[in-house]
Amino acid sequence: MKITFLGSSHGVPEANRRCQSIMIEVGGKIYFVDMGTQSIEQLITKGKAVEDVKSIFITHLHGDHSNGLISFIDLCNWYFKKAEPEVYIPGSAEKVKSAIEAWLKCNGEDMRYFKFEDVKEGAFYNDGIIKMTAYRTKHKDFSYAYILEAENKRVFISGDLLGPKADFPKEAFDKPVDLAICECAHFNANDYLSVFENNENLKKLCITHYSNRWISSVMELKSKLSVPFLLATDGLEIDV
Ligand SMILES: [Zn+2]
Repeated sequence: MKITFLGSSHGVPEANRRCQSIMIEVGGKIYFVDMGTQSIEQLITKGKAVEDVKSIFITHLHGDHSNGLISFIDLCNWYFKKAEPEVYIPGSAEKVKSAIEAWLKCNGEDMRYFKFEDVKEGAFYNDGIIKMTAYRTKHKDFSYAYILEAENKRVFISGDLLGPKADFPKEAFDKPVDLAICECAHFNANDYLSVFENNENLKKLCITHYSNRWISSVMELKSKLSVPFLLATDGLEIDV
């Protein structure tokens, strides 16, 4: 499986860093975790087929994780008519569907059928290519971290957290995690030591969604952990 960071920034974009969007390619299909940027433009820039996008999983509804959904659905609605992306939303799929429908209506467009579903805690998705398990976090009323399983690999994606000391789904690391993709916008990166120090199930760590105010702590964390360590930038690709 290949993971590409289309956006690695925190709550606001920075020069050459867009908001959070993670593209996962596996089994000839494309999946997204979060779409806080104009992911459909980036997808096309990379020469990928929009029709290959199977499912989009949002960690929570803050705009830096979800704003790109509108343009994605808009273009699938009127132009990429064979695309059938499924959208998984924390808390309020029906509300989000109605909001996008209303947005399209402003332009006089009717929205065709798209599957919008609520994310459910625990194992909630299995299409025979990937399996998704959701872990409730405390960042918002409805916010989740995910474990994505495919090709016998496990990838953890933190979404946004209050902080690893008070808000971290440790049970996701009961088994080996080949790659953990963790945010660092809201707390000192050294707080991850409370869950990752001497954690034999952590095989590789990638910090993304980092704020520049915490970047020196990210470098400290790197020096304190013995696992392979990556700092995400826009366009970074990781083979898992
Ligand atoms: Zn965020």
